[in-house]
Amino acid sequence: MDCPKCHAPMEAIEFGTDIEVQRCTGCSGLFCKWQALQQLRDEWLSDVVLDKGNAAQGAKQNEMRDVPCPDCGTTMESVQDQENARITLDSCPACDGVFLDAGELTNMKSVTLMDHVRHLLAKLGR
Ligand SMILES: [Zn+2]
Ligand SMILES: [Zn+2]
Repeated sequence: MDCPKCHAPMEAIEFGTDIEVQRCTGCSGLFCKWQALQQLRDEWLSDVVLDKGNAAQGAKQNEMRDVPCPDCGTTMESVQDQENARITLDSCPACDGVFLDAGELTNMKSVTLMDHVRHLLAKLGR
């Protein structure tokens, strides 16, 4: 599988016991299924382990449009993350795959962490 953005080969990486993602050896973009992404959101430190790319490069590559899915070749659609509208993901309408540019998983996780803290503070304030 080659990276749809920088065309470097992607390598399979396992996280935990049952999450598999593909990571680009060039730009460190991540490709996985939506279900795996949902699991990564909940996994402690998944961003630290997996999201090792240059966020500035990731932000630049996030501007690319009409990028083909690395798995099935269908043109992916830009979708906003439901939990953070500032994050734009590339989603494949055919095979349920999703591509994250470098830095996006980290952004996602930092939002989640902030939400946890906010909930905690709200509880303590009661
Ligand atoms: Zn790449
Ligand atoms: Zn696809």
